Amino acid sequence: MTAKIIDGKAIAADIRSDVGEGAAKLRAGGLVPGLATVLVGDDPASHKYVGMKRRMCAEVGIESYHNELPADATQEDVLALVERLATDPAVHGILVQLPLPKHIDEEAVLNAVPLSKDVDGFHPLNIGALAMKGREGDFIPCTPHGVIELLKRSGTEMSGASAVVLGRSNIVGMPVALLLVDQNATVTICHSRTKNTPELCRNADIIVAAIGRARFVRGDWIKPGATIIDVGTNVIDDATRKSGKRLVGDVDFDAAVEVAGAITPVPGGVGPMTIAMLLQNTLRAASRCA
Ligand code: NAP
Repeated sequence: MTAKIIDGKAIAADIRSDVGEGAAKLRAGGLVPGLATVLVGDDPASHKYVGMKRRMCAEVGIESYHNELPADATQEDVLALVERLATDPAVHGILVQLPLPKHIDEEAVLNAVPLSKDVDGFHPLNIGALAMKGREGDFIPCTPHGVIELLKRSGTEMSGASAVVLGRSNIVGMPVALLLVDQNATVTICHSRTKNTPELCRNADIIVAAIGRARFVRGDWIKPGATIIDVGTNVIDDATRKSGKRLVGDVDFDAAVEVAGAITPVPGGVGPMTIAMLLQNTLRAASRCA
């Protein structure tokens, strides 16, 4: 069997196109959707991610307002900035790029983002709502939301499916697991202390891998026909590339593609969805002000 490739790039482009239409309608009515980005310090990867988010904002007609603080900014500096953006009427969404420098209390900063502008979905109340039956938060975190959207748009039946989520982080694994429960899947969460991960995976109709270990999930862990969503992004050496490096996921793609029913590639799977869902959340936040 050769798995269907779930094209995250194409699906994300469709979502961005819908967001673009929504943004144009708001603009026509005199409201310019706005996203404020907050970057503290000089981590090159964070700079790259924020740059990508801002480029995509421009593409869909969302205004981005960039705010940068030095690596030695104090907790008070960061909070003061977020509090200013919280009351700025041009700003409908606030994105605080993580990770913050170690001396900054991340939870306090995320708590300072008002719920109505929490387009990253990381406010503890938004995360908490995911764990409560019948409750809906204001915003769903972007990468986990992207995972669910890929499952839906690839035609994967979640209701009644047995799903394994590898990883239990606050930003990916745990919210993905909660969202899968909400879709009526039966969910097992594997983490670094799980003893029988391969065995658990072999029974899964859906595997979401979010651990950050290159090609960790082997082909023989996969149930024939299962859907595999690979969130992992790992840089490995590759002498055949000009850069000498290559990006791979948490799943051994070459082996998995022969067994799975559907699978996301890395790159081009979950990655593009994260930004698309951020843009969708920003449009949603702006629409509420129309
Ligand atoms: P993280 O905070 O480092 O969490 C990793 C999780 O994996 C932890 O829960 C850890 O378990 C678990 N784990 C580690 N070794 C394991 C093992 N041998 N078996 C099972 N579980 C194991 O990572 P993250 O932020 O969730 O990110 C995970 C991956 O997704 C990374 O590669 C990251 O780059 C990628 N990512 C991609 C996107 C995107 O847009 N494409 C967005 C976010 C993250 P413990 O809890 O027991 O330590």
